[in-house]
Amino acid sequence: MDFHCHLDLYSDPFEVVATVKKKGTFVLSVTTTPSAYEQTAHLAKDCPNIETGLGLHPELVHQRFGELSLFDKWIHSTDFVGEVGLDGSPRYKESWDLQIKVFTHALKLSDVHGGRILSIHSRQAATKVMDCLEPFKDRNTFILHWFSGSVKELSRAIELGCWFSVGPLMLKGKKGKNLVSRIPKNRVLLETDGPFTSIDKQSLYPWDANRMCIPELSELWGVDSNKVASTLDENKQILLSKRHSLKIKHAK
Ligand code: MN
Repeated sequence: MDFHCHLDLYSDPFEVVATVKKKGTFVLSVTTTPSAYEQTAHLAKDCPNIETGLGLHPELVHQRFGELSLFDKWIHSTDFVGEVGLDGSPRYKESWDLQIKVFTHALKLSDVHGGRILSIHSRQAATKVMDCLEPFKDRNTFILHWFSGSVKELSRAIELGCWFSVGPLMLKGKKGKNLVSRIPKNRVLLETDGPFTSIDKQSLYPWDANRMCIPELSELWGVDSNKVASTLDENKQILLSKRHSLKIKHAK
């Protein structure tokens, strides 16, 4: 599985989609701008194991703020929102207030439409991200992507009910490993954040997440790889059962 991947930004998205389809890898294909949503969703039209998220990346907020109205246009067509969130790095300091505005808009919109599953960026902004999430926690499902906050912030995120998508690079470093070891096993999902990530100069693809993360988690959790794989699979099923469109179906 890959719960955070930028399918549209690979040099040959069609080829990646074809391989994902063949391998049956579940992919949450996140977008960085609302204007990219339609085409990116179209990439997945014949592939039931790819879901497309509607997003506006915090690093692009200062340039793409004007596309926010497209969020309102497309929110009906998906159960997933992402990539959204906040980036507190000095580089994006100037857009901080605008970032909060955009993120809050995405959360409110998700909430009034019955709830969404959101893939969330929180680099150097974990506390503020959680302040923003708090009022919307009842109806929505939050996945913190590549979480890199403090242990204390992690505890708060766990208490808030957040899920965590963890990738090969997070499992390589000491800090990431320590954080992952503190996440309840039933809240862990995998991701690659491809094509922006690579290991030994090899770009990561959605099907690399299981292959690279399962051995690491097996060591960290002290259980065998088959057990890790079945836990992750169960997590994926539970997470996907939270889709808003399923809830409507059940209610009918
Ligand atoms: Mn990303």
